[in-house]
Formats: sequence, structure tokens, C-alpha cells
Amino acid sequence: MYCKKCGKKLEEGQQVCLSCGTLVNSQLNQQATSPAAPKSKIAAGLFGIFLGALGVHNFYLGYTGKAVAQLLISILSCGVLSFVSAIWGLIEGILILTGSIDRDAMGVLLKD
Ligand SMILES: [Zn+2]
Repeated sequence: MYCKKCGKKLEEGQQVCLSCGTLVNSQLNQQATSPAAPKSKIAAGLFGIFLGALGVHNFYLGYTGKAVAQLLISILSCGVLSFVSAIWGLIEGILILTGSIDRDAMGVLLKD
């Protein structure tokens, strides 16, 4: 086990690097760097199918750019073009449920 910051060898169980003072407790580091909790595939898919016109599924998955686009298409057209976003969301919802879209914007795999 070596200090991540200065590379100095550490004794087993040592929690602070004596050389540079960096906290090296592995459990703390793992918690700090663990990825975000996986999001639900079912929830994302259903959001896309039923609320796709508002981009809810993309907001949920963190694809904010697409989500805002879908929302604006619906709002700026006063709902006239909401079917465009609705169909777009419906297709993405199906892709999510079938596993073609299997991760969120952070690259975290969706859970079943
Ligand atoms: Zn160090």
C-alpha cells in the first residue's frame, strides 16, 4: 500500500501518510470516490413513455441537454409540437426498457 499523493510506502493499517499528512484510510477513500447510486431502468423507461414530452426521463438520467430540448419543444410550441417530444421520449423509453440505453449521463449502469 502506497500513499496516493506522495507515493511513500505505508505500514499496514496506517491511516495518515507520515510524509505528506494525506489521509489514506482506504475505506474512507472508497466511500468518497464511489459512483452515484444506480438509477432504476423501469422508472426511467416509464418516465420516457408517459412523460417524454417534458423530458422527464432525461432529467432523471442526467441528460439535461436533451431534457431541456424536449421540454422547450413542447412549451415553445404551446403544445402543438409536443407530439414530437412525446414520440422522441416514447422511443427513448422503449430503448431504456429494452436495454439499448443502459446507463445514465454519468456512465452508471441502470439497475433493473
Ligand atoms: Zn504521502
